[in-house]
Amino acid sequence: MRIAIASFVDETMTFLKEPTTEARFEPGTRRGQSIIEGNEGIPTYINGYLKVLAEEGAEAVPIVEARKAPGPFSSWVTKKCFEKYTSEIVEGIKKAGKLDGVLLALHGAMAVDGVPKPEAEITRRVRSVVGSIPIMVTLDLHANEDHELTDASDGVFILKTYPHVDSEDIGMTAARCMAGTIRGQIRPVQVCRKPGLASPSIFQGSYDHPMKAIYDRCREWERREGVYCVSVAPGFAYADVPDVAMSVVAITDGDPHLAREVADDVSALAWSLRDAFVRKLPGAKEAISQVMQFVAEGQRPVVIADGADRIGDSTHVLRELIAQGARNWAVPGINDPAVARDLEAHAKVGDRVTVSVGGWYGELSGHPVEVTGVIEYAGRPEYKLVGPMGRGRPVQEGFVVRLNLGDNRHVVISDRTRGANDSTGFTSVGIDVGTLDIIPLKSRVHHRAYWDTVGKVNFPIDVHGYFELVDLSQFEYKNLPADVYPIGRNWRAARA
Ligand SMILES: [Zn+2]
Repeated sequence: MRIAIASFVDETMTFLKEPTTEARFEPGTRRGQSIIEGNEGIPTYINGYLKVLAEEGAEAVPIVEARKAPGPFSSWVTKKCFEKYTSEIVEGIKKAGKLDGVLLALHGAMAVDGVPKPEAEITRRVRSVVGSIPIMVTLDLHANEDHELTDASDGVFILKTYPHVDSEDIGMTAARCMAGTIRGQIRPVQVCRKPGLASPSIFQGSYDHPMKAIYDRCREWERREGVYCVSVAPGFAYADVPDVAMSVVAITDGDPHLAREVADDVSALAWSLRDAFVRKLPGAKEAISQVMQFVAEGQRPVVIADGADRIGDSTHVLRELIAQGARNWAVPGINDPAVARDLEAHAKVGDRVTVSVGGWYGELSGHPVEVTGVIEYAGRPEYKLVGPMGRGRPVQEGFVVRLNLGDNRHVVISDRTRGANDSTGFTSVGIDVGTLDIIPLKSRVHHRAYWDTVGKVNFPIDVHGYFELVDLSQFEYKNLPADVYPIGRNWRAARA
């Protein structure tokens, strides 16, 4: 058995400014054997493929793995960039010799200027050169897809967890389905449904209502004879694309009627729970006051999920922490390339400095905040992740400075977006997590895989930033279908 492996992933936020070009992808892209070396032992989709192919005695034929290097967030992928990597996949597969199947690790939320449904297009082009051999696709659950992708492929397998801790498992499920299909043991038949439901990421956690109820129903169906895999992608609402919003994919063994029944049932359940995706959360001022109350009552540490800010420059939470006199906190990343560059050139560990940080990207970021403190760390941290998401994955950061403002208050200034989905975001710059009362993270749900084991309270808030706002009605969509709840034109008109 010879199975080609290719990947081209992006989660494109189309409301940002700068386009995404090859320059953002090329430094992160792997080709040939380095795909195997880069994934082996790290819980990724591709490692899942490799594990099963090894078990099966099959040959993995790695083509290209196109992915962005860490760096600034950018908007629409250019057509030129899309064509470059899609052609590399197609040409690589053409040259790979006789193949028995193709495994495609896509994301599902790429938005390309001039290509309405990029993942379906990639898959169709692969199909056009491989003929009828099986093509299995794995997707993140922040995927916006419809029947065009299921029509073009033999199986679409979507993550079942948010925080995403099952990338390797889903890779394995897809590869097992591939092997079984080649041997003729299973005949996958799939149906996709769109319930017409867009939701902010912060309410999509798979262990919380309403996604838990939806996933429980999927697992129930999967226990039924003949049902192979049932997936739900709640979708990525921060992309103005025609297939935005939730997708349900049901795969059965040779039974299209059953696949339709399953997809319809899960889709109807999701629709019935639609109002649970529309909720109010506190703003920065109210949130910090409540968080300080938790700490005063001994509930510490409190982890704040400031989910809107993907640029990393918003200052609303930092401002309130200082204004309300909170102690024992550390902001693990204010992205401010200009300040970081200036400190790198003109300051060193031990210096006391005053800088104005953040608030540079746009008005939703808030104003810059002036902070004075002693530089206790300056450098380019290198470490491996320790949390359940991507454990063992090596991280190489840009330039980072930690200022100690006194009273165990720390601000980390970085030259690019910097998060802390596990403790390494703090320990790598010399912060003792055990001393913190308040851990403000620019994250929606992913942090919970690790921080729910440490924090006493997880506290989601609704604060401005670029660009995963809780209230989706603040975005102006041009390509969104009119009937998508609650932000399509028809629903907006009904509320007006
Ligand atoms: Zn995701």
